Amino acid sequence: MSLEDKKLWLFDVDNTLIHDVENPKPFSDSQKLWKHLNEKGKELAVLTNVGRLSAKQVNVILVEAGYDLSLDRTLTAGTAAAGYIISRNPDGRCFLISEGGARDDFVHYGVKLAHNPPIDYVAIGADRGLTYQHLNFAAKMVRSGAALICISGSRDYPGEFLGHRDEFLGERSIVAAIEDATGVEATIVGKPMPEIVRESIMLLGFEKEDVVLVGDNPASDVAGGNAAGLTTVLVNRPDNIVSFDARNLDMEPDYAVDSLEEIIPMV
Ligand SMILES: [Mg+2]
Repeated sequence: MSLEDKKLWLFDVDNTLIHDVENPKPFSDSQKLWKHLNEKGKELAVLTNVGRLSAKQVNVILVEAGYDLSLDRTLTAGTAAAGYIISRNPDGRCFLISEGGARDDFVHYGVKLAHNPPIDYVAIGADRGLTYQHLNFAAKMVRSGAALICISGSRDYPGEFLGHRDEFLGERSIVAAIEDATGVEATIVGKPMPEIVRESIMLLGFEKEDVVLVGDNPASDVAGGNAAGLTTVLVNRPDNIVSFDARNLDMEPDYAVDSLEEIIPMV
């Protein structure tokens, strides 16, 4: 199927539509393609690996950067993890460790949050206020049968917290402690693992054959999109590439361009 026949265009956010969420300067080639797709009546959505911010926060950033985008088309690792739980067990009780963004997404999608047993899912996002009690309870619940979910998959990340700029331990490192304590392996709902893409497509109500994924990173966007069976477009951006472990996933895009304006005549 040609690009012209595709119905949904799913864009990465950081370094694809905008520089990054802390510096949301838009790329002009992305804005031109976005506008063109809009005029052609294509469905547009975004999928970001960020789990610290809620979909609402990401949506406000993108709308202010000039992208015409609704909240229900703004997907994050948090919304995909919520979809993962709801599609498997809508009544499942979930103990969530998160700084706040994923909590808003879980509430928005109707996940039943709980702080006491029984717990069906333990979901872990980055949380710089995490306590020993929370970590210990999470491990206990996993040991007694709860499924373990990692919301996105950063080992560490740069940031500023309570006036202090540093590299911080990410969700993958917190999950590693629980995996080590319990012997249970987590499901990672984050690029490049295909679950984040599959759940997002399902939430949006499309089939994989109808979807194009556009991103800047072969090891996250392209690998995840390919693994989920989508058509992939890679835009080469020389700076600001975040490193991911794509394991043995296919990182070869269907289309590779130096500017997204090259895609416009194909649609
Ligand atoms: Mg990116």
